[in-house]
Amino acid sequence: MQCILHPDRSASARCAGCAEALCPDCQVEVAGAAWCQKCKGSAVKRPPVIARRMTTSAQARNGVLVGLAGLVFWTPVCGTVAIVLGSKAFGEIASNPKMTGSGMALAAICLGCTDLLFFVFTIMSRA
Ligand SMILES: [Zn+2]
Ligand SMILES: [Zn+2]
Repeated sequence: MQCILHPDRSASARCAGCAEALCPDCQVEVAGAAWCQKCKGSAVKRPPVIARRMTTSAQARNGVLVGLAGLVFWTPVCGTVAIVLGSKAFGEIASNPKMTGSGMALAAICLGCTDLLFFVFTIMSRA
């Protein structure tokens, strides 16, 4: 593989834009990729998409915590709050593409339902 501009030199990389062979003198490194002088401009203008930073919904996380607390304290308040936080988190995740945690939101709702079921069973067993 020879450099496209220097036929006497062996190429060390291929341009990430046009795939031409480039020698070390011809290649320009932008955002971890090799580019030729021609494609360098477009690389600077449109850098490779860096993995979007995802944030976990705090409401989903809190919902799981409250749901777990509900299992310890057996109170319908925790169960209800966990379900509310879980469903709010679902809405938050749906409206924000950078937001994650739908599994956690589901877990919060499940824990909340379990809390309420436990509470109902406790009342019934006492009656
Ligand atoms: Zn190129
Ligand atoms: Zn060259």
